Amino acid sequence: MKLANLAGRPVIVHGGRALDIATASKGAIDARVEVLSVLSLHAELRNLADRAADADWREFDPRELGRVSRPYKAIGVALNYRGHAEESNLPIPDEPSVFAKFASSVIGPFDSIVVPADCDKVDYEAEVVVVMGATGKDIPESDAWSYVAGVTAGQDISDRREQWRKPINQFTLPKSYDTFSPIGPYLVTLDEFADPDDIEVAGHVDDLEVQRGRTSELIFSVPELIAWLSRRVTFEPGDLIFTGTPAGCGVRRTPRLYLNDGMVVRTEVAGVGEMINSVVGG
Ligand code: ZN
Repeated sequence: MKLANLAGRPVIVHGGRALDIATASKGAIDARVEVLSVLSLHAELRNLADRAADADWREFDPRELGRVSRPYKAIGVALNYRGHAEESNLPIPDEPSVFAKFASSVIGPFDSIVVPADCDKVDYEAEVVVVMGATGKDIPESDAWSYVAGVTAGQDISDRREQWRKPINQFTLPKSYDTFSPIGPYLVTLDEFADPDDIEVAGHVDDLEVQRGRTSELIFSVPELIAWLSRRVTFEPGDLIFTGTPAGCGVRRTPRLYLNDGMVVRTEVAGVGEMINSVVGG
């Protein structure tokens, strides 16, 4: 099942058309985007889709798609692909290294990434993003996927200058500026993937492919991340895990490639679709 936020309303998408969840449920399910990530509602959403009349499904303009989740928290994983650790000249970690991204930085799949005027080292990171679907603490690795609402695409945009400003490296603020966490276009449930532990992600800047990887290459798999993180924090429906980025970040390229006014960032996750975020400012 493909779920989306269409002009602020939760919808189910099938065959390029959208079913408004609140209308189809006659108000039994709220017209709030938060309902998309509530896993306990997914069986009812499937029922609505099965029962809906053909006329209830509407054509839509993808440009009206908004962010598929309004998370309490978004957690990023700093080094989770071997290639990215190697290009960063950092050792392969024994345990996850994580940081927070403010929920206020999350935007939709076709919204603009706004680079502040005084920032000239803003970088892209194409990522597979996991959307949590149930409340959980101390989640066993073997059960972790059963707490997940689905998967979407994401960009973990980063101000490298602020990230490495001396004397202390810090990740949270430089990855949390307004608009620095685009997600979308769809929240896709796990049954749509042949193997949820092997999902392909790719990133493009203008016409240049800059990144490509698969979650089967992750140093810490999604179940390992959920088990490890939930020993410390309680997950809630809608919480996001940015699972890490493959090799090819702008700061590791020669010459370096930073985001600037007029550029377009395309992020593709197989089975989810493509986000297109233009860059303004800088
Ligand atoms: Zn990242």
